[in-house]
Amino acid sequence: MDEIVDKAALTAASKPTPNAQLKRPTREQAEAAVRTLLLWSGDDPSREGLLDTPKRVAKAYSELFEGYGQDPHEVLGRTFEEVAGYDDMVVVRDIEFHSHCEHHMVPIIGRAHVGYLPDGRVLGLSKIARVVDIFARRLQTQESMTAQVADAIQESLEPRGVAVMIEAEHMCMAMRGIRKQGSTTLTTTFTGAFRDEPAEQMHFMSLVNSAKK
Ligand SMILES: [Zn+2]
Repeated sequence: MDEIVDKAALTAASKPTPNAQLKRPTREQAEAAVRTLLLWSGDDPSREGLLDTPKRVAKAYSELFEGYGQDPHEVLGRTFEEVAGYDDMVVVRDIEFHSHCEHHMVPIIGRAHVGYLPDGRVLGLSKIARVVDIFARRLQTQESMTAQVADAIQESLEPRGVAVMIEAEHMCMAMRGIRKQGSTTLTTTFTGAFRDEPAEQMHFMSLVNSAKK
């Protein structure tokens, strides 16, 4: 019984979709929550400099987390450019993103590198960056985000394989002194031919690393 519950939870975690069942609070309730956090931090929400802060924070949250209202499959679309004869690797490197860790709601700042092996059709290049951004604008773990970007592209485009590498700095570690500032975490997800053929994986890694000095 427990196992079934765990599997369901795992599926939900790997593919977070906006949950229509959740009742969102009103903006006023969100602002009241910010005032509570200001008090919890030890400051006075009624002092002049903080008067508009709850309103600003609520507004900022709707931008920073707008990924919940966006569907990566819609962005990737159902129509793709047909490219007869081109089946070499496509790599988009250094897609900068800002996300927030789901454990502390503190920024994760990083770059994503995405590659795929076309199977007769390709994506508009800007779409890959949009998909990274949608998943970044949700609460994340770096591992989940890496898998989510790979899965979304794999499911929509159905290429021969997808490779995603994310390098990011976690402010919850840097700021709380758990790790030295500037240390990054690397995560990778490989699907299809990237998972099955080490040579394709190495080719992807060498293209990603060739960008660095
Ligand atoms: Zn954290």
